[in-house]
Amino acid sequence: MMTTDTLAHDTASLLADFGIAPDTLTKGDFPVVSPIDGRRIASLRRHTRDDLDGMIAAAERAFLLWRAAPPPRRGELVRLYAGQLRQHKAALGRLVSIEAGKILEEGQGEVQEMIDICDFAVGLSRQLYDKVIASERPGHRMFESWHPLGPVGIITAFNFPVAVWSWNAALALVCGNPLIWKPSDKAPLCALACNALLGHAIAQFGEIPDELRQGLSQVAIGGAELGEALADDRRVPLVSATGSTRMGGLVGPRVAQRFGRTLLELGGNNGMIVAPSADLDLALRAILFAAVGTAGQRCTSLRRLFVHGDIADTLVPQLQRAYGQVRIGNPLEPGTLVGPLIGEAAFTAMQQALAEAKRDGGQVFGGERVFAGKWPDAYYVRPALIEMQEQGDVVRRETFAPILYVMRYRELDEAVATHNAVPQGLASSIFTTDLREAELFTSAVGSDCGIVNVNIGPSGAEIGGAFGGEKETGGGREAGSDSWKAYMRRMTTTINYSCDLPLAQGIRFEIEAAP
Ligand code: NAD
Repeated sequence: MMTTDTLAHDTASLLADFGIAPDTLTKGDFPVVSPIDGRRIASLRRHTRDDLDGMIAAAERAFLLWRAAPPPRRGELVRLYAGQLRQHKAALGRLVSIEAGKILEEGQGEVQEMIDICDFAVGLSRQLYDKVIASERPGHRMFESWHPLGPVGIITAFNFPVAVWSWNAALALVCGNPLIWKPSDKAPLCALACNALLGHAIAQFGEIPDELRQGLSQVAIGGAELGEALADDRRVPLVSATGSTRMGGLVGPRVAQRFGRTLLELGGNNGMIVAPSADLDLALRAILFAAVGTAGQRCTSLRRLFVHGDIADTLVPQLQRAYGQVRIGNPLEPGTLVGPLIGEAAFTAMQQALAEAKRDGGQVFGGERVFAGKWPDAYYVRPALIEMQEQGDVVRRETFAPILYVMRYRELDEAVATHNAVPQGLASSIFTTDLREAELFTSAVGSDCGIVNVNIGPSGAEIGGAFGGEKETGGGREAGSDSWKAYMRRMTTTINYSCDLPLAQGIRFEIEAAP
C-alpha cells in the first residue's frame, strides 16, 4: 500500500529532478493533496493579487521583446521544450498520476500530447501565413497579416493538468505571446513542473535579455480569485479558460466587459449512438474506454449512450459484464484501469446524481464507493451504468464522474434529436457500418457538437484537429487546424502603388482644381 509519506517523498523527488527546490513544497499554506490517498503531498506559497499584478507587468515587458523575434526563432524555443518533455516524459507523467489520479498510462499520454502539440507548433512557426486578397482598385495590393496579441492568461482545469496548458502555451509562444498560467488549485505541482522544464528550454535557447527570461512564462498559484483578476485585467488581451460551464459563465462576461477576448473550453455531456449495423465488439471497447477511463473525469467522457432497441438486449448485458471486470485501484499500479475521483465533492455530486436517476426510474448498476477502509480520505468508485427510460434533468447535466446513462431508441432521427437536446456541445460519436447513417450524423442535420466521430468513442482527440465545442461548452477551439488565429491579431492592409487615388465602391470625391 502506498503511504502518504511515500507519495509526498515521490513527489518531492520528481520535482527535484525538474529543478524545483525542496523548500518550495513545504513553505506555504496552500495545501496540495493527492487523490490517491486524499493526503497532503505539498504546501505551496499562495500568490496574491499583487503578485499577479507584478507577473502581468513582467509579461508586458517580455511581450515587447518576444513579439519582435521572428516566428521560426520562437518555434526554436518550442522545439527545445519538446526535447525537455521527451527527456522527462515518464517523470512528468507520474506527477500527473499523483496529482490528478490518472493511471500511469494516461499520465504519460498527456505528456505525449504536449510533445505532439509542440511539434505541431514548431512547424506552424514557419506557416503563420498571411493572405493576399484581390483588390477592386487598380494599382493596389490588399493583404491581411497576423501579429502577436500580448500576454495570454491561461486558466486550466484539474483533469488535464498539463496537456491543456501546452495546447495554449505552444501556440501562444510561436504566435509571439508571453504566458501567465493560473492552474487548477487541485493540480498546481504539474504547473510548476511544466514551467520549470520550459525554464530549462529557455536556458538552452541562448543569451536572452532578463525581461524575457522573467516574463515569458509564469505560474500564479491560487484559487478563483486569481482567475478573476486575470479576467479583469486589460493588459491580458486573451484569457483562455478551461473548466466548468459555471466558471466559463463567470469569466466570459468579465472579460467581455473590458472588450478582451476569451477562448472558452467548458463542460461536455457527450453522447454515442449505437446503430443496429454497428460492430459491437468495437463499440463495446470504445464505450468502456470513453465512459470509465480517467474515472469519467474527461471533458469528453462518454455520458449518454443511445442504443437501438434491436441490439440493446445484447449490448447492455455485455457492458455490465465488462463494467464488473474493470480493475479499480491505485493509479500508480500497473493493471489499474480506474483510479480515484478527484475528491469528496466529486463523490458527493456523483451520489446525488445516482439518487436523482433512481428517482427518475433509472436502473442503476454499480456506482458505489470502494476502498473506503483502506483510503478513508480518498474516493474510489465503481463506475455506474444506468438504464433510463428518457433523458431527464439529471441526464442533461454534466456530472463529472463515471456515470453512463443508457437509453434505447427506434429511429435515428429521434436519437439524433435527443442527442442534441442538451445544453452542452462538445464531443459525440456514432457506431454504424451504414454509410447513410454515418454521413447523416456528420452532416448539418446531424450532431451539433464540435467533435463528431464515426466508429470511435467521443474521447481521446488528436492534436491536429481543432478541439472544442458548441453551446455551453463555450465555442472555443484549441490545438490544431487554424486555432492559432485566436492567439494573434489580424491586420488588413491596402497599399496603393499607383499614381491615382481611386476610392473603394467607385465613390467619387473630387474637389475643383484650383484656377
Ligand atoms: P472548475 O471550473 O472548478 O475550475 C477550472 C479552473 O477555473 C480552475 O483553475 C479554477 O481555479 C478556475 N476558476 C474557478 N472559478 C473561477 C472564477 N470565478 N473565475 C476565474 N477562474 C475560476 O473545473 P474543474 O473541476 O477543475 O474541471 C472540470 C470541468 O472542466 C468539467 O466541467 C470539464 O468538462 C471541464 N473541462 C473542459 C475541457 C474542454 O476542453 N472543454 C477540458 C477539461 C475540463
